[in-house]
Amino acid sequence: MARKMLIDGELSQPNAEEAHYDFDLFVIGAGSGGVRAARFSANYGAKVGICELPFHPISSEVIGGIGGTCVIRGCVPKKILVYAATYGGELEDARNFGWELNEKIDFNWKKLLHKKTEEIVRLNGIYKRLLTNAGVKTFEGEGKVVGPNEVEVTQLDGTKLSFTAKHILIATGSRSHRPSIPGQELAITSDEALSLEELPKHAVILGGGYIAVEFASIWKGMGLNVDLCFRRELPLRGFDDEMRAVVARNLEGRGINLHPGTNLTQLIKTENGIKAITDQGEELTTDVVLLATGRAPNTKRLNLEAVGVKLDETGAVKVDEYSRTNIPSIWAVGDVTNRMNLTPVALMEATCFAKTVFGGKPTKPDYKDVPVAVFSIPPLSVVGLSEEQAVDEANSDISVFTSTFNPMKNTISGRQEKTVMKLVVEAETDKVIGASMCGPDAPEIIQGIAVAVKCGATKEQFDSTVGIHPSAAEEFVTMRSVTRRIPAGSKPKPNNP
Ligand code: FAD
Repeated sequence: MARKMLIDGELSQPNAEEAHYDFDLFVIGAGSGGVRAARFSANYGAKVGICELPFHPISSEVIGGIGGTCVIRGCVPKKILVYAATYGGELEDARNFGWELNEKIDFNWKKLLHKKTEEIVRLNGIYKRLLTNAGVKTFEGEGKVVGPNEVEVTQLDGTKLSFTAKHILIATGSRSHRPSIPGQELAITSDEALSLEELPKHAVILGGGYIAVEFASIWKGMGLNVDLCFRRELPLRGFDDEMRAVVARNLEGRGINLHPGTNLTQLIKTENGIKAITDQGEELTTDVVLLATGRAPNTKRLNLEAVGVKLDETGAVKVDEYSRTNIPSIWAVGDVTNRMNLTPVALMEATCFAKTVFGGKPTKPDYKDVPVAVFSIPPLSVVGLSEEQAVDEANSDISVFTSTFNPMKNTISGRQEKTVMKLVVEAETDKVIGASMCGPDAPEIIQGIAVAVKCGATKEQFDSTVGIHPSAAEEFVTMRSVTRRIPAGSKPKPNNP
């Protein structure tokens, strides 16, 4: 098949020199971004090689697996645990709907773990086949860059393979970062949390980000006693403040012990488990401590500095708007670039890369209006601007519409948990520039709302849309009266310190 390559916007014809390369593209890392880039580039006619570390649920410098974080130790296994944990509350709610759950109900963690592992092994197989079917040559081992057009793959038995490639794509993702607390080696990260041999009775979680919040919900739903410690007043920094407060209230309402403004200062092994000492003078005795304090890009062992690829202060690969590094033949996508660390974003960046380099159509990823979900129980989902961002960025007045209501299901179940929805509207244009929801099915609902927001829908168009009744989602098209109007030029509240 004829190969087309677009370099600096010009279609270059394969020449004698190019024919000497082993590959048109060599990808290091077969996670969400790497697999997508490899497949799509191959579909455009490129000869593609990819390397990935051997498979294991818990990652390390030398262990990973085709499919990457999302499939093996991120989104997928996490969502499976969220489903499992959700049954805890659903079973309680079922009683007022007439279900007689008299006998003791047990939760079998080992069974779930086994089913989850089966599923990720299945997905790992699917990803392998996707690559093979696209004609991508796969190598198992640790890749590193040895020159602008040369990579080396160290296989499990220590033998090294060398390849030349016209383009190299770094798609090595990120890995959990451990804060340097004395005793941190006693703690686990999200990798281990998804694969614990035994379900603990008590967990202490450090972190206020989405992974910390999700594990708090998962473990509480499975019956654990959970303490969640985070440095700020509210968890989920960067999200809309009002919605952060709703999530915090729901976590507490479900029985999670929140410790705002709290850090862990030391972990000590005891006869019964671990003693976690906080900077507020508390001592929490627990079975496990989960450190969910952030992730670091996987660049340490790639030899990038030696070939002159620039990294930022966090170790992330610096790229331009097309995902190209300062070395023209070397590109990077996904978490390793630390732009917006989400699977669909890694997929978007990889798709744009393949289009730009092999598809004859230079394409930049578009980060505007990327919808996001936090799979707490109940979940939070948002698209567009938070109220604080809107006040900060918009040139006109901002109208905020909110709806707080008791979901119909709760009227019977008796659960005291409100659903909260919010629309942020630019008053001058009437455009909906932000939408948030915390309540059951929020991610499913916001995905649809995201299409409207991305298309620039106005509040009037929302209002003229007929609702689906009875549903929670219909509230998004029936918020008639403005909750508050914020004049242009108002100073936004600082995003909760
Ligand atoms: P990865 O998927 O991490 O892939 C990188 C691959 O490179 C890995 O397989 C790794 O083994 C391999 N590798 C590293 N170094 C080398 C080397 N030297 N040689 C060969 N291979 C190498 N995102 C969402 O959108 N929604 C969610 O709900 C969500 N939940 C998450 C939950 C958790 C617990 C975690 C940890 C992450 C979650 N994410 C979620 C984030 C998402 O998983 C990442 O954004 C996504 O996987 C990034 O894709 P990537 O291709 O950049 O990296």
